[in-house]
Amino acid sequence: MTTVERTLVILKPDAVQRGLMGRLLQRFEDAGLKVVGVKMKQMDADFTRRHYADLQERFGESVYNATATFMQQGPVMALVLEGAEAVANVRRIVGKTFPNESAPGTIRGDFAHTSKAYSEAQHQVVANLVHASGNVEEAKCEVELWFGSDELFDYRTLAERFAF
Ligand code: ADP
Repeated sequence: MTTVERTLVILKPDAVQRGLMGRLLQRFEDAGLKVVGVKMKQMDADFTRRHYADLQERFGESVYNATATFMQQGPVMALVLEGAEAVANVRRIVGKTFPNESAPGTIRGDFAHTSKAYSEAQHQVVANLVHASGNVEEAKCEVELWFGSDELFDYRTLAERFAF
């Protein structure tokens, strides 16, 4: 029995600035994930801290600062995606944190290697194009942080309308 979940995806400033929003969104739609929320946002220092609340503890101040600077470098595109086991599925589609460890066929494996120059220009940050919630609890918190209930939509896809 599979559970339907919602998860937060952020197309980071490198994805927006490289003109990859459409292609990356296409990957999620092709995998059968339903877009139930979408917006662009310029993150500020306070919001970045709320989103990456655990990052400083996990990796220290310099990784946090580099990541926070990078995330505020330009607007991001935030998405809420819905589907069967969406949290784990989206993580599989995105690939591993470090692009050189990400398999071909994943977003980071296919698109993030060429971010090296961008990464170096951005204080050694890992410019890996996409954020995706790490687990179901995190997904719930992140969706609530990023989207109001009036910004999320319930609808049936064509496939759902004609399913028996
Ligand atoms: P993921 O985004 O794959 O869930 P994490 O939650 O571990 O990865 O880290 C959040 C983000 O912080 C990463 O996507 C990356 O941009 C940045 N980051 C993580 N580890 C490092 C590191 N060692 N050096 C620089 N940036 C890092």
